[in-house]
Amino acid sequence: MNIALVSLTLLSCCFLVIYLPGCVEEKSLHSPKILLENLSTDIEQFEIERKQMVESQIRGRGIQDERVLAAMSQMPRHQFVNAPWKDLAYGDHPLPIGHQQTISQPYIVAYMSEAAEIDPKDKVLEIGTGCGYQAAVLGEIAQKVYSIEIIPELAQRARQTLAQLGYKNIQVKTGDGYEGWTEYAPYDAIIVTAAPEKIPQPLIDQLAINGKMVIPVGSWLQKIVVLTKTEDRIIKEETIPVRFVPMIRS
Ligand code: SAH
Repeated sequence: MNIALVSLTLLSCCFLVIYLPGCVEEKSLHSPKILLENLSTDIEQFEIERKQMVESQIRGRGIQDERVLAAMSQMPRHQFVNAPWKDLAYGDHPLPIGHQQTISQPYIVAYMSEAAEIDPKDKVLEIGTGCGYQAAVLGEIAQKVYSIEIIPELAQRARQTLAQLGYKNIQVKTGDGYEGWTEYAPYDAIIVTAAPEKIPQPLIDQLAINGKMVIPVGSWLQKIVVLTKTEDRIIKEETIPVRFVPMIRS
């Protein structure tokens, strides 16, 4: 996380402290009708912010895959974060999701989804379900998504959110992503959203021939590596610098 992101996270924490008590008090004064009106205004406002997010943060920065752009244009990111953060859901930054974990910045979700070169018939493995947002974006562009989360509470909450949104092609399990998910291997693409210090061998083994893995690698200084597996070799390309939470060992 760079200095700007650290400041933003701290700033966001300030919002939490300052605004949260006020919001709760104000809502208790509203009649159900006013609450309903507020709800539809909120939804419209989120839609406007989502369109702006896609145009300025994602398309504007060079993401061209129309299927990724379409998925992110309709994905209600605010439904993946807890109440105090909803108003910041479409901002150009990661956000806390509890248990010291974060939902990635929208651009990074788009970047990784595009880099994985996913086809509609693909089977994809994600490591680090978190709140389920990246899994949902993958669920829109792939046929089937398997996602592993090491923190049981996050896995459970992600399952609930994904079920509420109607995703039937995404399966979440609580487990250690270092091992991958052998049962459904090989995967046409693997996206890892927590950073290991080196690429776990089981994930390379579980990638299909001609498949792509997109993974942040490193400790403090990390780069997204795009790994391609061919019949006879593994090609690794270091791309943009990033700051992901570390991949935890069980
Ligand atoms: N893709 C997520 C963001 C992930 S944050 C989203 O869209 O919200 C990284 C997540 O990886 C955290 O939830 C963290 O608990 C999880 N994680 C860390 N180490 C892991 C491991 N070894 N196996 C599986 N998940 C892991």
